[in-house]
Parts: sequence; C-alpha cells; structure tokens
Amino acid sequence: MGPPGAGKGTQAKVVAEHFGVPAISTGDIFRANVSQGTPLGVEAKRYMDAGEYVPDEITNRMVRNRIDESDAAQGFLLDGYPRTLAQVEELDGMIKFTGHKLDAVLSVVVDKDEVVKRLLQRAQIEGRADDTEDVIRRRQEVYAEQTEPLIGVYRDRNLLIEVDGMGEVDEVTKRIFDALDAVPQS
Ligand code: ADP
Repeated sequence: MGPPGAGKGTQAKVVAEHFGVPAISTGDIFRANVSQGTPLGVEAKRYMDAGEYVPDEITNRMVRNRIDESDAAQGFLLDGYPRTLAQVEELDGMIKFTGHKLDAVLSVVVDKDEVVKRLLQRAQIEGRADDTEDVIRRRQEVYAEQTEPLIGVYRDRNLLIEVDGMGEVDEVTKRIFDALDAVPQS
C-alpha cells in the first residue's frame, strides 16, 4: 500500500520476482484493458482519467478472476488492491475461498510533496492520462479518503509493515526485503 507515486508498482515487481509469485497490479490490468479497448477498459477509463476509483464491483470481479489463474495458486502479491473497505472484505472472502492467507501488508511511507514531484516527472516521461496536475491532486484526495483508513485496519490485524519509501529504488527494495524476511510465510 501507499499513496499514488509511492513507488508501489516498481517495488511490487521486484518483490514478487524474489518470492516467485505473480505481481497482480490492478492499475496495470486496467491500463492493459484500456489500451486494448475491451469493454472493461472502456468502463474503467472514465474513472481513471478523472482520478476516481473504478467501482468496487468491477474491480473485485477482475481481481477474483485474476487470482483464480493457475500462476497464482501458490501465492501472489497484490499491488493497488484493496483500496477501499469494501475491497478489504471482498479480499477476505476470496482468500478464504482459495485457502490462502495474508502474510503481510506492506505500506510504503513517503513524503507527500515528494510524491507529487515524482508523479509530475512520470507524467512527462510516460504521458499517462491520469498524471495531469489536477488529476494527481484528486488521486491524492481519494487515497486519503478511501484508502488511508485501510492502514489502521491492517495494523489492528497485526499484518502491517511500514517501510520508508524515500531514497533510491534499491535502498527501498532492501528495506522491504529486510522487513519481509522477518515475516513467517504461509
Ligand atoms: P497509482 O499511481 O495511484 O498507484 P495505479 O496504477 O495503481 O495508480 O492505478 C491507476 C488507477 O486505476 C487508479 O487511479 C484507479 O482509477 C484505478 N484503480 C486501480 N486499482 C484500483 C482499485 N483497487 N479500486 C478501484 N480503482 C482502482
């Protein structure tokens, strides 16, 4: 977990590879659907371009289908999900059904101003449609309103690991590995 621009996607790929599980990124799946022009992509794009969350029902169904695929049978890393309290409940149901359990929830902690700076830089390089300044601001608001409360939920479940997300990518990766080394794997 972490606000937009925290570097979740970058770290998720490295961490997932290290543990030999797929990184399941809802943002990436939505973007792939948008670029392929699928019905899901057409629907999701309206929300993404405005910096809003795609409705839970759509997102939940998509994640459910993805974790049903065979490469996720031994485990998976979720990037960008859950992002709402309703998604937390839905995920609980999904993993109960598949027999998985959550080993850890990793929160990448960053400085708000730094995050906005990174996103504006990414906007120039990648030209993502949801990286304009207004949309970036809206995404930060939506994160604070809908997703930040999830940190407390997972802290209460003793699953939360907070890692300092400032500094070089490699430094952050090292902190994540060190933190995860201490977690017993299911
Ligand atoms: P970020 O830069 O915020 O980490 P992502 O690439 O994870 O962005 O997601 C991009 C967009 O995809 C979000 O702004 C949102 O519209 C949509 N999205 C991704 N994950 C979810 C989710 N779990 N629930 C609802 N919408 C989501």
